[in-house]
Amino acid sequence: MGKKYKGKLCVYCGKRPSVTGDHVFARKFCLDKYRGYLPQVPTCDECNRVKAYLEHYLTTVLPFGGQHRDSQETFSTLVPKRLEKNAKLHRELRIGYAGDKIPLREGHIEPLFAFVAKGLLWHHWGITLTDDDCAAAIVIRNDGAGFLSHIFTKMSARDRVVANLGEGALTYEGIQAKDYAQFTLWRFLVYGGLNFAETPRDPNGKHCIIFAVTGPRAPLANFWSSVFKEELPAAQEVIDADGDGNKNGATERPEDCCGVREERSGP
Ligand SMILES: [Zn+2]
Repeated sequence: MGKKYKGKLCVYCGKRPSVTGDHVFARKFCLDKYRGYLPQVPTCDECNRVKAYLEHYLTTVLPFGGQHRDSQETFSTLVPKRLEKNAKLHRELRIGYAGDKIPLREGHIEPLFAFVAKGLLWHHWGITLTDDDCAAAIVIRNDGAGFLSHIFTKMSARDRVVANLGEGALTYEGIQAKDYAQFTLWRFLVYGGLNFAETPRDPNGKHCIIFAVTGPRAPLANFWSSVFKEELPAAQEVIDADGDGNKNGATERPEDCCGVREERSGP
């Protein structure tokens, strides 16, 4: 890893110095041929570890529910190797997997995409959130997301970005609000739309998109409650997925909790 990502401010916590570069979208989300094109940002060790923990789980599980052809290829080529190394997850999926639905653990997608939104905020606009700001994400049904399209179309923006990584394996759109440079909205389509067995707001599981926001706490809270009729999550903590009593992956190394070492890339 070159100097480019060291000794800066970590874009995820905005507090600690960065020690390495992190792929905003884990390389494992994509097939090998696309991995060179993924954006990278400076990260500290702590944030990197928690994010890698979430990524290891999601890059194994999400291809189960993908609609995109790459997710089929990922599913048949990469996922079995990942599962071989993680007997517990393998068991969990074997019990819960039913056709096109994913037995998804709660509390993983949201914190990961809050990380992703912060990473993209820096990648596209060079902004790192402060203590007065926050980021949050939510999984919503694609067919119920018309109001989001409306917001994306109507919001008066200072800038907009659209990206397509891995020929449709991962697409996203972001808009930066006029009033605050750090106020951004994001929507993500992963593997052409995911089909979940159950999410808190989607018991029937139809193609889902992921929506995320960053921005100053107060205006963001207003926005969130007006759109979702609920309070902005204070902090989306990584909940204990392994049932081992640890609240998140931060207290254990990813290779310990998942049985494999996170793939790392040069330079
Ligand atoms: Zn950090």
